[in-house]
Amino acid sequence: MSLEFPDFLRKERINILKRGNINSKGAYILYFMEASQRADHNPALEVAIFFANQVKAPLLVYFGLIDKYRYSNVRYYKFMLQGIIKTRQKLRQRGINFVILKMDPPQGAILLADRAKMIVFDRGYLRHQRLWREEITRKVSIPVLEVEGEVVVPVEFLAQKEVPYARFLRPRIFRYLTHFLEPIPTLEPKIKDQLEFPENWEEETEDIYLSKLNIDKGVSTVEYYQGGEDEAMLRLEVFVRERLALYAQHRSDPGMKVTSELSPYLRFGQISPVKILRRVLEDYPLEDENVASFVNELVVWRELARNYVWFNPLYNQYEGLPKWARETLEAHLGDKRPYIYDLDVLERAETHDPYWNAAQRELLTKGTIHNYIRMYWCKKLIEWTDHPKQAFNIACYLNDKYALDGRDPNGYAGISWCFGSFDRPFPERQIYGKVRKMSQASLLTKANFSRYLEEFSS
Ligand SMILES: Cc1cc2nc3c(=O)[nH]c(=O)nc-3n(C[C@H](O)[C@H](O)[C@H](O)COP(=O)(O)OP(=O)(O)OC[C@H]3O[C@@H](n4cnc5c(N)ncnc54)[C@H](O)[C@@H]3O)c2cc1C
Repeated sequence: MSLEFPDFLRKERINILKRGNINSKGAYILYFMEASQRADHNPALEVAIFFANQVKAPLLVYFGLIDKYRYSNVRYYKFMLQGIIKTRQKLRQRGINFVILKMDPPQGAILLADRAKMIVFDRGYLRHQRLWREEITRKVSIPVLEVEGEVVVPVEFLAQKEVPYARFLRPRIFRYLTHFLEPIPTLEPKIKDQLEFPENWEEETEDIYLSKLNIDKGVSTVEYYQGGEDEAMLRLEVFVRERLALYAQHRSDPGMKVTSELSPYLRFGQISPVKILRRVLEDYPLEDENVASFVNELVVWRELARNYVWFNPLYNQYEGLPKWARETLEAHLGDKRPYIYDLDVLERAETHDPYWNAAQRELLTKGTIHNYIRMYWCKKLIEWTDHPKQAFNIACYLNDKYALDGRDPNGYAGISWCFGSFDRPFPERQIYGKVRKMSQASLLTKANFSRYLEEFSS
């Protein structure tokens, strides 16, 4: 049977990973939910419903829960589970079957694919996400589609190779921005919730799941961010109504709190970047200076990060940095370093520098660091360790372990930026060589840190 493709979605968002005939004996269309953990404005979900309606079958959404993920800890599992359980509830209310299986994500998908007509994936950019999708595609014998919903402009449409500077992407992003802001409809499944599962099949609450997972329970959970798409929408409303008008001028001031604080929600796909921008444009024109500044972060820098991890296989390694940056940093290995700190001193925020300690405490307690001081936080590690490779690894470790928005392309791109990626060489300095330095004096030129220091002083 030949299928028609949906016309509500830009065709560049759909990749056919495996062609073939739909399995006519299959009982459902399977959506392997992984990167887009939401019910609303989720193109992969709507494409899966669209095909389920065409073949008159129910949809089964599957989420695989593993505890073998790097730095698995209760902080981000709680946030993720809060979101995924609410998504399950929303989808069930729409008559869509949803299962959470505690197993290796590809293993569960391969198991469920046995009874499926076809599979739909959302798209993730990190190594393990790509390997999961490749493994499933290789091992199943039904058609597989992938739908790209975590960016405004699809990554391979934007560029076919790694780009060294944001300015290489900006013109193309702005040329196609409105083209890729298409609304995503909420389709009504024609065949509802008809699948039979064993009794008590996966009805657990977040606390029950957490108690069954073998994860690090030593990292505190964060009250400030509650997971889920409704929470993300509330933050988006506050941002558009109260903060956006101050964004261009004050986004670098951690005391002002004018940024959206949506990064953990974007990280887990609990809100769509397209949805965010569509909401912003309901109240403001694209030409507004605050919108332009916000688009520069949400789309240009965020999508540069996706380009980086997609095309650079060493994205989370020191060796993935540009050659000039490694060479200049290593040429200064012999420079005197006034302070050298071990990982545990850094982790406990016990350095001599109150600004750095405040940033680390923000990370420890709130699970994010304000962007401006996050650069300082990372760059200082170059000064305080014996080798930039060690500094790079410590930055990745702390960010991935404690940040709710960590283990994300933005984290690896942000850290790499601090070591010279996407930046130009600067006049040569001690320790940093030609990599841009950030001193305490330069940190204080853009913002008044008194409120920030007070908030994260102990
Ligand atoms: C060393 C270092 C590590 C970082 N680690 C992470 C990380 O692990 N996860 C993460 O999401 N961001 C990371 N960033 C980027 C940035 O700090 C955060 O995205 C931002 O602080 C999130 O706050 P917000 O949601 O209020 O941002 P807003 O200013 O409201 O921006 C909206 C969204 O745009 C994206 N964005 C904003 N700034 C950047 C940027 N510089 N690069 C890429 N995308 C951006 C984020 O998704 C953000 O949520 C890092 C930056 C540095 C310098």
